[in-house]
Amino acid sequence: MTSPVLLWLHRELRLGDNRALLAAVASGQPVLPIFVLDDETPGAWRPGEASRWWLHHSLAALAADLARLGAPLLLRRGRIADILPSLVRETGASAIHAGQPVEPWARRVAAELPRLAGVPLVLHRTVTLFDPEALRSGAGTPYAVFTPFSKACLARGPAAPPLPAPAHILAPERVPPSDPLEAWGLLPGQPDWAGGLRGTWTPGEAGARQRLAGFLDHTMEAYATARDRPDMDGTSRLSPHLHFGEISADQLWHAARAAGDGPGQIAFIREILWREFSAHLLWHHPTLPETPLRPNFARMPWQTAPRALRAWQRGRTGLPIVDAGMRQLWQTGWMHNRVRMIVASLLVKHLMLPWQQGEAWFWDTLVDADLANNAASWQWVAGCGADAAPFFRIFNPVLQGRKFDPDGSYVRRFVPELARLPDRWIHEPWAAPADVLEAARLRPGITYPAPIVDLAAGRARALAAFASLSAT
Ligand SMILES: Cc1cc2nc3c(=O)[nH]c(=O)nc-3n(C[C@H](O)[C@H](O)[C@H](O)COP(=O)(O)OP(=O)(O)OC[C@H]3O[C@@H](n4cnc5c(N)ncnc54)[C@H](O)[C@@H]3O)c2cc1C
Repeated sequence: MTSPVLLWLHRELRLGDNRALLAAVASGQPVLPIFVLDDETPGAWRPGEASRWWLHHSLAALAADLARLGAPLLLRRGRIADILPSLVRETGASAIHAGQPVEPWARRVAAELPRLAGVPLVLHRTVTLFDPEALRSGAGTPYAVFTPFSKACLARGPAAPPLPAPAHILAPERVPPSDPLEAWGLLPGQPDWAGGLRGTWTPGEAGARQRLAGFLDHTMEAYATARDRPDMDGTSRLSPHLHFGEISADQLWHAARAAGDGPGQIAFIREILWREFSAHLLWHHPTLPETPLRPNFARMPWQTAPRALRAWQRGRTGLPIVDAGMRQLWQTGWMHNRVRMIVASLLVKHLMLPWQQGEAWFWDTLVDADLANNAASWQWVAGCGADAAPFFRIFNPVLQGRKFDPDGSYVRRFVPELARLPDRWIHEPWAAPADVLEAARLRPGITYPAPIVDLAAGRARALAAFASLSAT
């Protein structure tokens, strides 16, 4: 009996453009694909609740896709460093093929695997466009600033052409037992909060391809300008598909290039490179999710304010664009990028709550929760990241709302209690005259919260705290 090779799938839940899968098939040996749900490895970022919902459906789709090519998908739960070596012993596998992980905890596991399993672990580039070690500045150091990083990527590019899925996968004669997916309890029980997610998303490779096709047909052309407007369907919404690897960054790069070289395509590739930059930062700064890259931020006089945090999480801050964003997140598991920046700025600056608290809430509620993108973006907004927005740039949610949701339709959609307010007051209901409030049947502080922070005072406090950092 020919010994099989294991295919450890982690963040490449796809058949197309999957170098690890193709290498396993090319070995000529039977291939045993496995996904391990690891909530136990110390330091592992256990997927949040929204990610677990996505993962369930993505694995179901992948299992069906693999079955069509002749292979089973083995599911096991526990520490990867225990499961894979014991599976190697159980099956007599001669090697493990896998995508190169970028999360620090998964990299540590990967580094130990050959010794623990006693067989080679062959890592393939599946998550990023470029090998993270290959990108270095002229001085030989990792990049700390986005623009030179993106120029280096563009000079190196184009990314490798996407590879087709194999036509067939040879399965082992004897397949060890798999956990039933349902037994993992990844879906919510009661209350079932996932209705909005089901109505919004189609996890899986086919869903990703469909989303990309819709984006190329309808959205790409206007992307360069519409991408900043939460009231429009102006972005790709591919982020959860990309996070789980249902589509590869190489595939997106080539699809964008094939669609032309207009401003939409250029802007889209630039965003894909922000993703690449976040992965680069995480690769070279493994403490990125926990520790500010600028060490003086550890002395920031953060507040402890559980009620304010809760109001922010639930979309009850009394600031319409912030509440709309937080409710969009709660209902759909996703939030528009512009609004992510606005809500994050409010949390970290006006409320002076630690960015890690916002990062943790996003981690739990986003379907696209991604260790690199989430950590790098929170550090960017907080001003403590590598190439960050300066701390003193503090978004005013009223002005941001007026600029990017000019007729308030985004706010009306997610904050229906404000729906009857005229455009003039939709982003500033507390300032509306009494007759306007009455006509809109709005009672500030009763039917909709009064703002939890005075924007001018909050801004002044944040600037004073920042000045104290520079002075110490
Ligand atoms: C505070 C904060 C937290 C964030 N957390 C996450 C996260 O956990 N996961 C995540 O994928 N993105 C995160 N982002 C980045 C960005 O908001 C999302 O990637 C984007 O909104 C996803 O929507 P889209 O797919 O329609 O984006 P598009 O505009 O269509 O962009 C295409 C792809 O480019 C990548 N991308 C776009 N913008 C960024 C960016 N600023 N940084 C890194 N990659 C980017 C994403 O993979 C995205 O799918 C965060 C941003 C902020 C400000």
